Amino acid sequence: MSEVKKMSLTVKVLLGMALGIIVGLIINLTGMNAPGTFINEYIVNGLFHVIGKMFVNALKMLVVPLVFFSLICGVCGIGDIRMLGRVGGKSFALYMMTTAIAIATAILIAVTFGIGKGMNIATKAEFAGKEQPPLSQVLIDIIPKNPIASMANGDMLPIIFFSILLGVSMLMLGKKAKSFIEGAEIANEIMMKMVNIIMSVAPYAVFALIAKAISTLGLDLLASLAGYVGVLVGALMFHLFITLMIVLKVFSGLSPAMFLKKIRNVQVFAFSTASSNATIPVTMRTVTERFGVNNSVASFTVPFGATINMDGTAIMQGVATVFIANVYNVELGISGYLTVILMSVLASIGTAGVPGVGLIMLSMVFTQVGLPVEGIGLILGVDRLMDMIRTAVNVSGDATVSSIVAKSEGKMDLSIYNDPDAGMLDTDEALEIDDAVEAEMKAAVEATHQK
Ligand code: ASP
Repeated sequence: MSEVKKMSLTVKVLLGMALGIIVGLIINLTGMNAPGTFINEYIVNGLFHVIGKMFVNALKMLVVPLVFFSLICGVCGIGDIRMLGRVGGKSFALYMMTTAIAIATAILIAVTFGIGKGMNIATKAEFAGKEQPPLSQVLIDIIPKNPIASMANGDMLPIIFFSILLGVSMLMLGKKAKSFIEGAEIANEIMMKMVNIIMSVAPYAVFALIAKAISTLGLDLLASLAGYVGVLVGALMFHLFITLMIVLKVFSGLSPAMFLKKIRNVQVFAFSTASSNATIPVTMRTVTERFGVNNSVASFTVPFGATINMDGTAIMQGVATVFIANVYNVELGISGYLTVILMSVLASIGTAGVPGVGLIMLSMVFTQVGLPVEGIGLILGVDRLMDMIRTAVNVSGDATVSSIVAKSEGKMDLSIYNDPDAGMLDTDEALEIDDAVEAEMKAAVEATHQK
């Protein structure tokens, strides 16, 4: 019985996703998504929209405090402060390496298939590019002028910088800072409880998010861009199941099968929110409690990865570059493609994991290699769905690198990693409050009042 119960959240989330796809398709294919219809106004853009947005807000609400407290705990619990530099160096190198491999394979696959050749739809394209901050500004912005403002804006790199510096300073101060460190530990545990509470409503929210996305999708566009979509999805799957799993096995010896089994929940969250950033709480919970990665590593590698590591996005950029170059009959050549690889890797550092950011990065890449930015308009219609899929690949890359770094630093509990049931979330358990604990808390509060 308890086994069945334990399975419940993962199964329910997957069920929510499947139902969301079915309902979304029914609404889409029957034309019930037409503007002005009851279903479109009140169900898709009413109920589904509100539930989905509320849920994404709830996830985002957790990101900043969770990263802040877990990083303080991570730094203070690291045991050897030199490890901090090593974890930073290794994860940066691995994130960049996987992104570069991702885009290189994507270009290779797309060139092999010759997608976009002979297509003549260029005249219809419309897309205005946005300005990207130069790399120098990205570097400057890592140091926050005002940490509170960075937290209010959810700017991950300055938050990471401030939290690490705070943790290191606490360590230097020693005994005096002990109660602060203990406070951060408790706050971190409280945040993790909040993650559990919010995850327990995920099946319904995932249903609403996916049903809305699919019902508003241009399925007819999907057919006309079948070549682009097919090659892109193929390249994404290749990276997820082959490249990342080889990297995991070679660098850590960990079992790819176990990884793929346990990462599913994170992928569904990423798929339905299309945001690596909003998925941070779920990624963090999964790598620590299901994979056994110590918080001293995960607290850094997960938010860092959500910000700088975008394998799926890089793959989209590679495939889109080849596609649009072919549509416009532009010959990029080896040097053009090398520039694309370099630009994509650099662009991924400065952009946060939020929905649709990949297209903005793409416009920067296009400008650099002289491709028409308005060409991006051609793939705009299918980008939401592609964004959902590539975000699932992005977060899988974050979890892969977190596991490799943790394993290499001896900060991974293999008994947790190899136990298929470890850290599984049970909806009822997540919301449970022990009667005895409740009574104890009540007595404690009353005692303070009487003082
Ligand atoms: N939505 C992606 C992410 O959050 C970024 C993108 O490709 O647009 O990782």
